[in-house]
Amino acid sequence: MTDKPTNTLTEEQAAAEAAKLRPQLLAWGKQYYDADAPSVEDDVYDRVYARLVALEEAFPAIVTPESPTQRVGGSVRGDLPKVAHTIPMLSLGDVFSLAELSEFNDRLRANVDEDFDYNCELKIDGLAISLRYENGKFVQGSTRGNGQIGEDITANLKMIPSIPQTLSRPLTIDVRGECYMPKAAFLALNERREAAGQAPFANPRNAAAGSLRQLDTQVTADRQLATFMYNIADYEPLNTRTQSGLLDELAELGFTTNPAYRVAHTMDEVWAYIDTYQAQRSNLPYGIDGIVIKANSLPLQRAIGATVKVPRWAIAYKFPPEEVQTVVENIEWTVGRTGIVTPTAVMDPVVLAGSTVARASLHNPDYLQAKDIRLGDTVLLHKAGDIIPEISQVVGDKRPADAEVYPIPTRCPSCGAELVHLDEEVALRCINPNCPAQLAEGMNHFASRNAMNIAGLGPQIVAQLFARKLVTNVASLYRLTTDQLLTLDKFGEKSAQNLLTAIDNSRNNSLERLLFGLGIRHVGAKAARSLAANFGDLNSLMAADSETIAAIDTIGGIIADSVVTYFDSEPVQALMKELATVGVNLTYTSGPSEPVDPLGTFANQRVVLTGKLNELTRPEATTWLEQHGATVTGSVSKKTDLLIAGEAAGSKLTKAQSLNIPIWDEAQLLAAMNENK
Ligand code: NAD
Repeated sequence: MTDKPTNTLTEEQAAAEAAKLRPQLLAWGKQYYDADAPSVEDDVYDRVYARLVALEEAFPAIVTPESPTQRVGGSVRGDLPKVAHTIPMLSLGDVFSLAELSEFNDRLRANVDEDFDYNCELKIDGLAISLRYENGKFVQGSTRGNGQIGEDITANLKMIPSIPQTLSRPLTIDVRGECYMPKAAFLALNERREAAGQAPFANPRNAAAGSLRQLDTQVTADRQLATFMYNIADYEPLNTRTQSGLLDELAELGFTTNPAYRVAHTMDEVWAYIDTYQAQRSNLPYGIDGIVIKANSLPLQRAIGATVKVPRWAIAYKFPPEEVQTVVENIEWTVGRTGIVTPTAVMDPVVLAGSTVARASLHNPDYLQAKDIRLGDTVLLHKAGDIIPEISQVVGDKRPADAEVYPIPTRCPSCGAELVHLDEEVALRCINPNCPAQLAEGMNHFASRNAMNIAGLGPQIVAQLFARKLVTNVASLYRLTTDQLLTLDKFGEKSAQNLLTAIDNSRNNSLERLLFGLGIRHVGAKAARSLAANFGDLNSLMAADSETIAAIDTIGGIIADSVVTYFDSEPVQALMKELATVGVNLTYTSGPSEPVDPLGTFANQRVVLTGKLNELTRPEATTWLEQHGATVTGSVSKKTDLLIAGEAAGSKLTKAQSLNIPIWDEAQLLAAMNENK
């Protein structure tokens, strides 16, 4: 339904309409800002918001203080400490067309006596953060929250490498900017989440917010967040008096700033900037959702001021959502290594934001049902966070009359076993350990670089090996012959020989590669290494009970239980015997050349290395520490027993000091090494 022009409405009608829109926007905002999980697309929100703005502008008397137009969206999570922003963190006004942008420019110029330039910047799709420095030292970091009060996320922000702990000058300043998740990190994170049966994040913005607004600093550290800083609460301490100069000076102070800014003297230059970056948008390694133009003079910014919600000297031009229509031709269900069965929409191929798209993940049955996607449906397709093709919605009036609700499968598309939901998982799983699709995916994982590292054994070859019944499990790989490989598509003597050599070489891998390659639930490469190093050989690990395994410093109860459950199964025990028979090494041979001494000087000590070492290399120090019983980890936490800090140590040193963790310098480590010779 199209909205009635506001000049045809009475004030009562406008008030009644606005009263309906506000709770809707507040409810969507709650999902988006508080739960970091939007329930509608941004442009749906934006359209309704723009309508509310139009109504309130036409009838100012209907504005209520609680209206979303009068408040910065967002709130403060109860379990995070609060920070009052001395100078509020505002949102930005936005426009959706070049005509609206012109109007903004005309209005501003009409109200300002002097001529002025704009600084054009990319609108980074992340969440706003504020960083407080006292005498050049990072002391506190926070989210925007409701603009007046934010959440204290200092510990998490310390995990982000682009945030300097110390500035190049001892300034006391509040610097503002955007924390974001690069596209590649976002894709990898969602892959991991889906493999673990968790719901994926809707876009990098929500992923970044979810990674910062939680209590575990290690989670933040693992999420590869980055920052671009672009503002300062009070510019007095700076040498510059322009926005563009501010970006340069922030960079000199040690911050990461976005290099793509440009000063525009005319609106033509603003248009050109918009054109350039709208075209490059999909090639950038981070998401942007528009362009921000800001009056370039900082004193002018101050003179122009702000409303309760947005500065009057800046505006965001939001890119139109790139959306195309296409038709869903099929829904494919694929079985992953861990048995998770994922639906994918297969569509008539269309070009979208620079690439041809024919498939979009539908993640899990709940998602598919919520969108009610049916075969033959015309759908609107966009790229979430600029990268992932996603179906926004079905075009209702184009639905074929005979389209039926899509039935969620109850049986595995590969082996026919009944599908289940484990615990509270949204994912559907096949739990048949002999499911051929899972076995093939398992073999791909077994051959992968961090596992057995069998070069040349890719998914297509694995699929053929299974289809021709040349293999049944990973052990049977080691019985393959040249003649058998020669029956595969495009295989000659040389390729067959190369693959056999790669398979053969993998027999000698150290145990941790095999343990990781088996794909035991919760056992990643790091846990596999700890298990292998601590038990030394497979039989000892298989004989261990959950308590003994969980006693290893970096291995928790969940991993320990999972390992015990895995080796408890008869088919797994048979597979281990078969691996031994075909000559796969089952002992730990990498890392320390001398045997690990779990009772050594550093027994059960969690040690972190930081800064530059002069006499030793990092790997040398790590190996020696591990040989003497230590577990060397990457980040400082309450559980850390010792920090060894070389020269120019930064945030880890500060953190260890704040947690009263013992700190050694390199000389102390060298002395310990001498003593233990
Ligand atoms: P906003 O994100 O549109 O704009 C303001 C923010 O832009 C600032 O706070 C800052 O964090 C950011 N920004 C990025 N680059 C910048 C730069 N170079 N200079 C200055 N600021 C920069 O506004 P908002 O109030 O945070 O949120 C509104 C947005 O959130 C809308 O896009 C809306 O679609 C979306 N939203 C969506 C839902 C939903 O349910 N889908 C709900 C609420 C809000």
